[in-house]
Amino acid sequence: MPELLEVEAARTLVEALALNRPIAAVRAPDTWYLKRGLTPRAVRKALPGRRLTTARRRGKLLLVDTSGERSELAGAASVRGAGNPPRSECDQSAGPTIGLHLGMSGRVLIDGEAAGDPLLYASNRENVQWHRFIIEFADGGRLAMRDPRRLGAVELDPDEDRLGVDALELALPYLRSVVSRSRAPLKAVLMDQSRIAGLGNLLVDEALWRAGLDPARPAESLDAGEQVRLRRAIATTLRVLGRRGGSHTGDLMVARLPGGLCPKDGVALLRRTVGGRTTYSCPRHQL
Ligand SMILES: [Zn+2]
Repeated sequence: MPELLEVEAARTLVEALALNRPIAAVRAPDTWYLKRGLTPRAVRKALPGRRLTTARRRGKLLLVDTSGERSELAGAASVRGAGNPPRSECDQSAGPTIGLHLGMSGRVLIDGEAAGDPLLYASNRENVQWHRFIIEFADGGRLAMRDPRRLGAVELDPDEDRLGVDALELALPYLRSVVSRSRAPLKAVLMDQSRIAGLGNLLVDEALWRAGLDPARPAESLDAGEQVRLRRAIATTLRVLGRRGGSHTGDLMVARLPGGLCPKDGVALLRRTVGGRTTYSCPRHQL
């Protein structure tokens, strides 16, 4: 399941391959995939003729900005029909921002190329039915959102502020303020995207295992030293697993199965549900 690292890989791919290519057409065959009142007709009106200008990320949300100016493409000609915004409204300095949620199994493909480790995803067979949202570029290439399980989403101009601080930019004072104000289990607090954005089940389990902290502990029970350890472990987890290739490359990963042993001290791991998610932790060194 995509977490911060997988979305960052998708962002890098968009940045490397999809920017500055004029959009000829947009297809949204799966209306369910468009969220917050967005319709296929609205995206067809909003995007053709523009270019993708920036690929950003906040937590697990991939954000792609578009140009204000629209070029005179054959594909864009239909956009200027009746009921379309007057020319002046198209001449803003920036166009809409496309928000891509990868959900459980979403991937971004550009000209058929995907980012991230393919093994973890639901299926890698090619099936155009899974292409939920497609941007066709004037040069003949395309950006497609491929999502077998259909739990991702596309929206325009998403509310970025409902997401908390990105986990890659987590400073100690902020982490301290977040954990010290909650009696919820530590793991649940770290996975709350409105407070810290980007950490999912695997990254949090790995970081807590590295920090030697019990995921079920009330967040507010951490002392100052434990907060420092937690901040460091989150940073290390993101750096190391990012280099290795994704959320599933943690040291704890090999032991995430019934009967799994702690890779640090060989003790049988606890398998529990914490914060609504299956959680592995070590009863000896995670206190
Ligand atoms: Zn252990």
